[in-house]
Amino acid sequence: MEMIKFHEMIEGASKIALASHLNPDGDNLGSLSALSKYLKKLDKDVYTIFDDVMIDDFRFLFKGIKTVKSSEIEDIDLFITLDSADLDRIGKDAVELYRKSKKTICIDHHHTNDGYADFNVVEKNSSSTCEVLFKLLKRDLIDEEIATSILTGISTDTGSFKYENTSSDTHRIAAELLNFGAKNLDITVNVYQSNPKSKIMLLNEALNRLEFYLEGKIAMIALPKEISLSPNYKKSDSEGIVEYIRDIEGVEIAIFLKEKENEIRVSFRAKSYADVSKIASKFNGGGHIMAAGATYYGSLEKAKDEILQEAIKEIKCKES
Ligand code: 5GP
Ligand code: MN
Ligand code: MN
Repeated sequence: MEMIKFHEMIEGASKIALASHLNPDGDNLGSLSALSKYLKKLDKDVYTIFDDVMIDDFRFLFKGIKTVKSSEIEDIDLFITLDSADLDRIGKDAVELYRKSKKTICIDHHHTNDGYADFNVVEKNSSSTCEVLFKLLKRDLIDEEIATSILTGISTDTGSFKYENTSSDTHRIAAELLNFGAKNLDITVNVYQSNPKSKIMLLNEALNRLEFYLEGKIAMIALPKEISLSPNYKKSDSEGIVEYIRDIEGVEIAIFLKEKENEIRVSFRAKSYADVSKIASKFNGGGHIMAAGATYYGSLEKAKDEILQEAIKEIKCKES
């Protein structure tokens, strides 16, 4: 049913805009690249919006795709958001364009998604938006490049098939994607084996600030802006730090705070039983049970204190 409606909406549109979310990740960029290539094959006028900065790891998925800024386009027939639990995630300019578009679709897998679009395909038990998207696409149009893009998002959102969101469906779809010619080694080399040196240097700075609380069940790193905004590091260099400290023995909740000019970006990860989306939502953020985020307004010291108290509460609540 959903597949039929999805294709009807696409058939009825000629100018179609696709948006990435702020701080884009592999699932978001994989689905963006895949759908952009797919719609091109259907001869649609595709506008692949990129209002944030491209992440080098995923550049290989955008060869041959021209990206545009929201502010450069108008008169959109169909606007599709990908991997964005709430509309604000796509950024202010894109929201403006979205509101002026004739029809809207949201493809997502976040359990906090409230279905903000005209047509919502939100599968809360899916590993990734890429998995949801794959189920919507007509098989005869899937080629090597589209398959590679989709497999990238599944791989990154499942932590390379390690997390609990990895179902038998996820593996079956991954197998199908390999049959379509998905280039697994390209994903490995580009996404997992191309760390810039600056990223390792930032990890070193971060680990020097690692603190443990509640008998080592909470690990926290707070990066002050002197480090996070230093020209020695790229914005994407801090990706992966929160997972690195989650993976320490005994840690249940990992918290990474990155101070910016006027705000603090916070990333949360849980290992097995804590619900970090609950903590994130206390600070107007959201996400998944085991991976969530928020933006905090205030000093780094206050952020550390307040967030730590909520994390302690969450662990104590689950343990009681
Ligand atoms: P990350 O720590 O990688 O930035 O984010 C982890 C997950 O949390 C993302 O996949 C996204 O679902 C969610 N997330 C991160 N930041 C925010 C935010 O500010 N608001 C909401 N609603 N979700 C967020
Ligand atoms: Mn995402
Ligand atoms: Mn996702």
